[in-house]
Amino acid sequence: MSNNIFGHIILAILLIKSAYISAQDNRTCTSNPPLGFYNEQENVYANKREELFIPIVFHVVYHNNEENISDDIIYSQLQTINDDYNSNNLDITNVPAVFQKDVGNVGIEFCLASEDPFGNPSTGIIRVNTPIDSIGGQISFENGLKKLKFTQLGGSDAWDTEKYLNVWISNRSDGIIGTATFPNDPDTTPGEDGIELDYRVVGNKPQFQSRFNIGRTLTHEIGHYLNLDHPWGKTVSCFNEGDMVEDTPVQGEAYFGCSTSMQSSCGSRDMVHNFMGFMDDACLWYFTKGQANKMVNSIFKYRYGLLSSGICSDLQPIPDDPLEIATIRQVNFGLQINLGFMPQVGYRLDLYDISGRHIWTNDQNGLSIHLANLSSQNTGVYILTMNFENQRYFRKFFYSSD
Ligand SMILES: [Zn+2]
Repeated sequence: MSNNIFGHIILAILLIKSAYISAQDNRTCTSNPPLGFYNEQENVYANKREELFIPIVFHVVYHNNEENISDDIIYSQLQTINDDYNSNNLDITNVPAVFQKDVGNVGIEFCLASEDPFGNPSTGIIRVNTPIDSIGGQISFENGLKKLKFTQLGGSDAWDTEKYLNVWISNRSDGIIGTATFPNDPDTTPGEDGIELDYRVVGNKPQFQSRFNIGRTLTHEIGHYLNLDHPWGKTVSCFNEGDMVEDTPVQGEAYFGCSTSMQSSCGSRDMVHNFMGFMDDACLWYFTKGQANKMVNSIFKYRYGLLSSGICSDLQPIPDDPLEIATIRQVNFGLQINLGFMPQVGYRLDLYDISGRHIWTNDQNGLSIHLANLSSQNTGVYILTMNFENQRYFRKFFYSSD
């Protein structure tokens, strides 16, 4: 074998290797804020903090079966972002004490679009078999458009980007696992507004050996889609505008992997586990209050169509026993009850102790997540009841007061 051939083989191996997201690869993200981002003043709408609903349509653009990821993976992905955007993620308890006061609950619920732009029922998942291998990131020579985002170019056309959050899932061979368009970017072609993900980073699938196996690439990219920058801002430096969020410390470094939380730069401790950082999925845990406000502001200011579409509101299937799919989690001062669906009509939740003493009732209809304060209650068995459509449902559970 001549040296020349041997060299070619090595090169080919290197190329193949770079085409896959290996266990060694760091997080990659190519989302960039538009011109003007660093001059913007916001915080006008920050007090509008009722739960917001955003419909998502997933475009699975696949070339082979492996890339045609299952509905279950997409459901698990939806669960991850709903947990992360409602501070329901269990690992939020890992936030270092020094930053706990800064943790913000964004209060956005995402749903699979139950209706297409023409009003037809939909699962919110579109599947397109493309003849193009590794279509993600490819640009058309003719018109400079991203092939992935246009049916005519082998991809899948966006649904009205003012009403839907479009998420395209495909194979990207350039090692970029996620990228998003910022709001109010004059350089974004309307049909390209949304988020792109490599199919390998979609979903919560702990059995899958990867550094991006919880679905937090989408958590991070939605942050960009709602006007958040990386904590270090335009460039990794202590001497720029940062991310234009007051409660994220100036960060002069980007951290990768899952290294220790004790990192400092620019004279202060860094929020290395912030969702907008570059650590692995398992080490990203929270947004700050400032980031939550900035995102909510950006929706009211630039992406209001997502809320007014009404597509998310009331079309989820209602289970036979609505409490069967509810998740009840113990939080600092009591319980968090997540019904897991959005009841269409009036309902009522009540909480009793085992002796039948009434302890709590929900005071806000129209929410799927409720918080019950149990700080003055004892450890023991409790009963949650739900009155819904002239039926009463029960669920027993154990609560520990310490
Ligand atoms: Zn990013």
